[in-house]
Amino acid sequence: MLVDSHCHLNFPELLANLPAIKQSMQDNQVGHALCISVTLPDFPQVLALAEQNENFYASVGVHPDYEDIQEPTVDELIKLANHPKVIAIGETGLDYFRLTGDLEWQRTRFRTHIRAAIATGKPLVIHTRNSPEDTLRIMREENAQQVGGVMHCFTESLDVALEAITLGFYISFSGIITFKNAHTIKEVAKHVPLNRILVETDSPYLAPTPYRGKTNQPSYVKHVAEEVANLRGISFDELAAATTENFFRLFKHAKH
Ligand SMILES: [Zn+2]
Ligand SMILES: [Zn+2]
Repeated sequence: MLVDSHCHLNFPELLANLPAIKQSMQDNQVGHALCISVTLPDFPQVLALAEQNENFYASVGVHPDYEDIQEPTVDELIKLANHPKVIAIGETGLDYFRLTGDLEWQRTRFRTHIRAAIATGKPLVIHTRNSPEDTLRIMREENAQQVGGVMHCFTESLDVALEAITLGFYISFSGIITFKNAHTIKEVAKHVPLNRILVETDSPYLAPTPYRGKTNQPSYVKHVAEEVANLRGISFDELAAATTENFFRLFKHAKH
């Protein structure tokens, strides 16, 4: 059994096909999925998915790519996270690729999420793009190691991965790892400890080979897992068992 540790099933292109998506998960032995919130107005729909489907969980948070939207406070996040199906805070973090200029608001928003995660004991789902130094610095300054979490859709260097692991974090690989030119990430996947690896789709984005360019879905996490297993020279079953165990160790509020 596999877990898709990061997907956006409330996005219209996936929500419209939910019965087929769930069937495909079952057919491909993808047992669970963590539905990730990106804005506060989005959150009720994400939570509804988790409430209506026993094998779905939810996170609550505001993504760093959304400027000029309702800014969350620590108290708000704590309140919204107070639900048995909300198992994580995020996705949060920094993105210096999609947005430029004065991004102090991103850093402030990131700190807000870390504080809420520590207060609730629910781990962080961290998005970091072109911003590894600031991401790690803020994690350290805010004591993110008190709660831990996952560096999702990891695309940074092995050094950054190992530093995050030192802070108690897990490294999650997406479909990018199946792309031919993804040399750095393939190296990271070979060298990080097996007990710190998660797999995800980040669907509807980033469909793995052989579906590259198409709409992604949770069952395709199988292809991510296959690639990571091949890179490490271990069996698919060993990788699947380890990543699933890792998921439920990290997200200890997830009942299964
Ligand atoms: Zn992300
Ligand atoms: Zn995402």
